[in-house]
Amino acid sequence: MKTTETPHVAVVGAGPVGCVAAATLADRGVRVTLFEAQQELPRELRASTFHPATLELLERFGVVDELVGRGLVAPRFAYRHRRHGQVASFNLDAVADVTRYPFRLQCEQYKLCEILFDRFVDNDLVEIRFGTPIAGAADHGDRATVQIPDGSELEFDAVFGADGAASNVRKSLGLSFEGMTYADRYVIVSTPFELADHLDDLAYVNYISDPDEWLVLLRTIDLWRAMFPVGPDESDAEALSDEACERRLQAVVARPEPYEIAHRTIYNVHQRVTNTFRVGRVVLAGDAAHINNPLGGMGMNGGVHDAILLGSGLAAVLSGDLADERLDHYADMRRRLAIEFVKRHTHQNAVSLSAPDPVARQQALDGLADRAADPKETRAFVLQASMLTALAAMEEELTEVGCWPGITMPTDATGPTDTTGPTNSTDEKR
Ligand SMILES: Cc1cc2nc3c(=O)[nH]c(=O)nc-3n(C[C@H](O)[C@H](O)[C@H](O)COP(=O)(O)OP(=O)(O)OC[C@H]3O[C@@H](n4cnc5c(N)ncnc54)[C@H](O)[C@@H]3O)c2cc1C
Repeated sequence: MKTTETPHVAVVGAGPVGCVAAATLADRGVRVTLFEAQQELPRELRASTFHPATLELLERFGVVDELVGRGLVAPRFAYRHRRHGQVASFNLDAVADVTRYPFRLQCEQYKLCEILFDRFVDNDLVEIRFGTPIAGAADHGDRATVQIPDGSELEFDAVFGADGAASNVRKSLGLSFEGMTYADRYVIVSTPFELADHLDDLAYVNYISDPDEWLVLLRTIDLWRAMFPVGPDESDAEALSDEACERRLQAVVARPEPYEIAHRTIYNVHQRVTNTFRVGRVVLAGDAAHINNPLGGMGMNGGVHDAILLGSGLAAVLSGDLADERLDHYADMRRRLAIEFVKRHTHQNAVSLSAPDPVARQQALDGLADRAADPKETRAFVLQASMLTALAAMEEELTEVGCWPGITMPTDATGPTDTTGPTNSTDEKR
């Protein structure tokens, strides 16, 4: 696939995955045209958790200090019973010998895009075209094309599709997006009210079990984000109404005044993956290739891992430093990790929190409490939840393209399928 001139790649979508792909390619001397449908970088409030493994991978761009400066360091995450309080707390110190970042970084995903964008402005290799929705992409064997809004086609050495869940790149290649949609949607209501003053031992990341309505409480630098399930009997409009948002927050912490609500939004939740992450000179990554339940915060993180491995691999193939078949192998590996690690882990989180059977739910909490009380179990659990296990699975490939972050993986950071724990008899572990 080697190109004689400076290779030129179209990256479609300036979300976190497209921005990281553009940075990865440009770092390797590839010219990048980054197409974004919106007129500016989207500032939607979606992912807010960066895992240690992702911070390790992002270090190469010199962005982590700024990201940490714009976020909140969460040294632990916790599981709670809504009525009885904290049940299990997992401190990321348990993996401090493995990573320079033994914490979850609570930081909105758009901040990563903004920080990378500032670097693109000074980088001659990166051109950004806002307001340019790409209608589709095609592989032509020795090159690839994208279709721009006026109907014409632009030619590149390759196309990197990072255009999100409704990806036109994926659709135009005729790829599937198989999987399932959960019956419940998730509503997220954000408030500046300091919930930690009213709930004992509240961590910055909390998964809260309850017979009537589970929830997740996440702190960002200026807001608490509360995420609740919304059943089929409640419409989107009802769930987003002042009354419903107020009712849900009052049930978390009752107070005489109404809550100030900074944001509210509702999402359908899926587990879907496309049948291949590569068609010749077109590569897919992030939500364009796989979408996951947000519980556990792995969708964007997994997408960033895709972008770094597939972006580096594509650049190395274009420069003739890597055999073409290796990129197929990387694409297969990223797909396998999306299914065996991200999907499995996030689905187990959903099952665990939403189990209708009280016995199963209590067993899950008991299992977590046992795990948190046992340092060896805690370490194994934190290695997986922080995606260091998923990173370890890519060690050989990342080393091959010079992207291994230089950390020493312990032998207990085993492969991606090792996600079972003491509660797996009920398929519930978090
Ligand atoms: C409520 C919620 C909470 C979440 N929390 C977390 C979390 O804490 N941690 C985590 O890891 N993940 C989380 N996720 C998942 C995460 O938000 C996504 O996985 C992530 O946004 C995927 O990034 P992306 O760049 O692939 O896609 P997107 O963020 O969707 O970006 C795609 C970009 O492509 C652009 N685009 C779309 N179509 C076109 C086109 N045709 N041409 C050009 N541009 C186009 C879009 O405008 C957008 O800028 C959460 C998701 C939800 C819904």
